Amino acid sequence: MESTQSSAAAPAPHLLRVVIIDDNADDRALTARALAGRFPGIQTRQVADPQGLAQVLQEDEFDAVITDYQLKWSTGLDVLRQVKARYPEVIVIMFTATGTQEVAVEAMREGLSDYVVKAPQHFIRLSASLQSALDHTRAQREARLALEARERFLTIAAHELRTPLTTINGTVEGVRLRLERLAPTLPLAARQEIAPLIQALDRARRQSARLDRLQEDIATAVRLDTTAALPVEMHAVDLVEVVRSGIAAQRELTPERTITLDAPERLLVRADSERLRQVVANLLGNALKFSANEVPVEVQVSREAEQDQEAARCAVRDQGPGIPLEEQERIWGYLYQRRELSYLSGSSVGLGLGLYIVRALVAQMEGTAGVESAPGQGSTFWFTLPLGTPEVSGA
Ligand code: ADP
Repeated sequence: MESTQSSAAAPAPHLLRVVIIDDNADDRALTARALAGRFPGIQTRQVADPQGLAQVLQEDEFDAVITDYQLKWSTGLDVLRQVKARYPEVIVIMFTATGTQEVAVEAMREGLSDYVVKAPQHFIRLSASLQSALDHTRAQREARLALEARERFLTIAAHELRTPLTTINGTVEGVRLRLERLAPTLPLAARQEIAPLIQALDRARRQSARLDRLQEDIATAVRLDTTAALPVEMHAVDLVEVVRSGIAAQRELTPERTITLDAPERLLVRADSERLRQVVANLLGNALKFSANEVPVEVQVSREAEQDQEAARCAVRDQGPGIPLEEQERIWGYLYQRRELSYLSGSSVGLGLGLYIVRALVAQMEGTAGVESAPGQGSTFWFTLPLGTPEVSGA
């Protein structure tokens, strides 16, 4: 194996290191020179035989491999497989005059970054191809690191926020109740002083209830992400009652908003009541978050036929901005948020977990969740659940 370095200095860790594999020494040298012209400071290593390749593969000190297809001792496809088996992230580009379209297609399927036809005038194309593969790899790595950082944060948040939040909620609520009880026994002047304190504690309670929900969503998402299934306890549950109490809880948080309900007296579904509560809370929260204060959010609970079977359906309709068709599937993704959309109602917390959780929980309860929406026309988020039959108590 020959080795050339464009600089005699010891390689800095961020230097671009490229392995050039070709039987033809002139071609290797030409390739190295062309790349050096485009990437100053590049370090190239030339490989001409299996021993050279084996040594390179042991060393793990390269970012990209440029290989011919027809080698006396191997093929470019084989080189690609060997490199990718050990270093899936390393860029491999085939630079060859002997490959075929079938080879190119097969190699791309196995992770080849690009295929450039070897010809004297194509060295520029080879450099451009390497540049774009490097850009792509860097973007992918950055996206992956960002996602990993977010996941680490979520895991910590899921575990560390619970206890302090419970303490804060309990303390605020306790103090508020005591002041409320105390107030009537006090002289007027003291009562007047206490009234705004009670209001302030009320606001604090509402805000920390919001954090509570966020923490609950984070913990659920982290569990879904790591165990793929949360235990669900399925019972006959009155969907209308869960929705009513979800609306009541939401009204506590946002008393200024109008939420209407159109529902039968009662509708039994088979569900886990805690998970169901979380689903309803998320859909209501989103509908309010993404629509203006002056417009109502309408909730409808009904029976419907789903694939020849009767099911229960809950739909939450808002008059927010609506969602373009091409986004309507993506929004259910893990940590997915549409950046361009600003929250309208001020409760601007969100991590892109709400809908992910809704869909996962509804699926675990054997239902389906979806959205009907168009830009400028608001959105209707809905879910269905199998109907439940009254449980006979075992007594
Ligand atoms: P978050 O609300 O934290 O952004 P979600 O998973 O609940 O996360 O929602 C994902 C994305 O779906 C949101 O960022 C938003 O773009 C879009 N979305 C959700 N609900 C609505 C709604 N009612 N109206 C318009 N867009 C919505």
